[in-house]
Amino acid sequence: MSFKLANIVGRAALIDGENYYDLETISNGDFDEDTSSALNNLEGLKKLSSGLSEAEPTGSLKDVRIDAPVSAPKNCFAVGLNYRNHAEEAGMDIPVVPMIFTKHTTCLVGPNSDIEMRSDHVDYEAELVVVIGKPGKDINKDNAWDHVAGLCIGQDISDRKVQFSSKPPQFNLGKSFDTFGPIGPYLVSPDGLKDKQSLQIECKVNEEIRQKDNTNDLIFDIPSIISYLSEIVTLNTGDVIFTGTPGGVGVMEGKFLKEGDIVTTSIKGLGVLKNTCKRISNHSNVDKS
Ligand code: ZN
Repeated sequence: MSFKLANIVGRAALIDGENYYDLETISNGDFDEDTSSALNNLEGLKKLSSGLSEAEPTGSLKDVRIDAPVSAPKNCFAVGLNYRNHAEEAGMDIPVVPMIFTKHTTCLVGPNSDIEMRSDHVDYEAELVVVIGKPGKDINKDNAWDHVAGLCIGQDISDRKVQFSSKPPQFNLGKSFDTFGPIGPYLVSPDGLKDKQSLQIECKVNEEIRQKDNTNDLIFDIPSIISYLSEIVTLNTGDVIFTGTPGGVGVMEGKFLKEGDIVTTSIKGLGVLKNTCKRISNHSNVDKS
């Protein structure tokens, strides 16, 4: 039995269709309100999910604010140039080892949060996101999926000016402004997907489709990324990994995000992120350069 776990106004909840069920309530206190601690008991989540049809829903998803499915992971990793067509459009060689960078965990926000931009060089990157369940070090590719709690959608928002302003470039800050990591809308356990290695991914800005691909095009698949990372860093429960973006990002054609743009990101089986762009004050230090 699979599960869908969400964070409804700061409280863990299971999802069934359009309804949500407060986790602490339906578990009679066996779980608390924290989604990250719920990931320590995946079997318990599956068992509760199988009984949802008999439970009373807490409410409807359309009436509530949904927060990021994991609130404060220890680490948030991301993979660059992990789709062939994106590496090609960037004029880069196909990587032979994963190109890993980090996003500060403080940039993670919910699936419908505003994107607060401080320059006219902010860009979208639709990505499949992995959240770790069972912690591990030196994880073998063959059992890497055993360490995945679930999958969700992510937007690896980037201020390209900041990303490339230092020489050599250092990706982390340009991709870590507050609000630059919308994730969600909920976490789907891998067994809840018909083919977890082949998912249609799409990003629209307003009504225009900018990115459209399938996650089976990943150069380094999820087991390869987990194996590579865990040889270096212990992966902890709740850790977030952005797996890379397909071709079609805005920087290639100078199509950056503008005030009022709506970025809609979807992955088949994982739902939709919808984020509105807000142009706030300038980033004074970079604008000087
Ligand atoms: Zn990315």
